[in-house]
Amino acid sequence: MFWGDDIIAKFLTEYGEEAKKRPLVLRDEKTLSGRPHIGSLRSFVMHATLSDILTSRDIPHHYFYEINDTDAFDSVPPYVPQEFSEHLGKRLCDVPSPDSKAENYAMFFAQAYLHALTASGYFFESYRNSEKYSEGAYDEYIRLALEKRQQIRVIYQEVSGSEKPESWYPCQVICDQCGKIATTRLTGFDGKKVQYVCDADTKYVKGCGFSGKKSPFRGNATLPWKVEWAAKFCMMKVDLEGAGKDHYAAGGSRLVTNRICEEIFGRKHPFDVRHEFILIGGAKMSSSAGTGATASEVFALLPRYIFRFMMIQKDVMQTINFSPEGDTIPILFDQYDEICRDYFSEANTEMKDHKKRFLELTHADVTRKHEDFQQLNRFLPRFIQVAFFVQMPHVDIYKKFEEIKGAPLCELDRAELDLRIEYAKKWLEVWSPEKYIFKIHEKVPESADLLDSHDREFLKILAEFLKKQPDATGEMIQTFIYERKTALGLDSAKVFRAIYLSLLGKDSGPKAGWLLEALDNQFLLQRFEEVSKISFHG
Ligand SMILES: [Zn+2]
Repeated sequence: MFWGDDIIAKFLTEYGEEAKKRPLVLRDEKTLSGRPHIGSLRSFVMHATLSDILTSRDIPHHYFYEINDTDAFDSVPPYVPQEFSEHLGKRLCDVPSPDSKAENYAMFFAQAYLHALTASGYFFESYRNSEKYSEGAYDEYIRLALEKRQQIRVIYQEVSGSEKPESWYPCQVICDQCGKIATTRLTGFDGKKVQYVCDADTKYVKGCGFSGKKSPFRGNATLPWKVEWAAKFCMMKVDLEGAGKDHYAAGGSRLVTNRICEEIFGRKHPFDVRHEFILIGGAKMSSSAGTGATASEVFALLPRYIFRFMMIQKDVMQTINFSPEGDTIPILFDQYDEICRDYFSEANTEMKDHKKRFLELTHADVTRKHEDFQQLNRFLPRFIQVAFFVQMPHVDIYKKFEEIKGAPLCELDRAELDLRIEYAKKWLEVWSPEKYIFKIHEKVPESADLLDSHDREFLKILAEFLKKQPDATGEMIQTFIYERKTALGLDSAKVFRAIYLSLLGKDSGPKAGWLLEALDNQFLLQRFEEVSKISFHG
């Protein structure tokens, strides 16, 4: 069974009765403290996929995605002017935009991120946390948290062992003097207003010393995150919300939150889903560390369906290893192609059900719009071959793939080829390993000097073959090279190196058979003749 169907089956067993009364609610969020890292997409995609499954089963629901813009600004990322340190301690929505055009700091980063999420074809409804606060949606929970602060203290202590002083209030207000929130500490609550002092000394900011009295309602305050998280469950009527597995570890935040939700706010906590992380280059990615690719960068470099395929391929409790620099991207395309071809082939009935489901959910954006799934039955030019041909200026790539397909390309085929041309170019520019990048030298490269007499003899034999068989396919050429080098007792690495050195000026390159097939026959004959005449200096 596809992992998402399994989760939804369990979820409906527990929450299915609710679904008969009202649309179910799924929720997730992202704090916009800088450019979101690709790591944050694991959670987004997990929820979005579960939403797609509910849609596929005609179960009414909402998937709310929160732009968390009320957390405190606690560090200045390297790509933001360092003068921004004067705003440390303010809510993210109270910090100005780095480009002074967006509404505020959080929205500056949210714009590109939301744009990328929408472009990924997933469906969600976004909202800003600051608006919920200013509309008063949190007021009831702020009041409950202030009134039941001793019980919250006990929950923190029992679940996570965290000791809060008896004088602790689970709430912070915006200081009327300095505008910061991370530095304030409540000292009293009379049911309408709170007494506060701005004197907290956090790791990154100090209070201004002001003390005053104000209402904590209608956007003047925020709750500490575990209490706020529980308030969100209630306020948004959340039925399913997952979190990274670390939040579920013994003493973890989600366990604290679930208890606050039920014991303080009196609502059953949402269905739990734990998920694993995305690892890039073997290290867990975190948006605060600022290493690795940002979500927007990854979106720009992968077509929508390949991104979705990569993200849902693994069970949520398995780590996704994403190392875009190696062969990862061509392999992803190959894996997708295999499943897609199987799906539409005659042998479809033998295909495993979970693979079918997997492909359907990879393309849930298509089915959601009630478009014909059959449109995905198109010719899939191999990505690595596309990446190869786009580097051959004299090759008509459409003609080439028509030959490979063995039939004319229809409109859908051409659209797919165009898409792959676009992404192959991006891949070559950004992520491709050196071995896939090449340039045909118009004149004999200097590196041809490195060839010894055996190499030159072999190139002469190869040229004779190409002269006799000008229409040989890549496969035939490849076979010929292997058979002849074995017959002559030559080392294969050395033979291929000779070909690359004489055409590309470097000692490695794409599969030689393809390369030779794609190049003009007369050009090759002339090149190998010239090269085989060069006297050996070594
Ligand atoms: Zn202050």
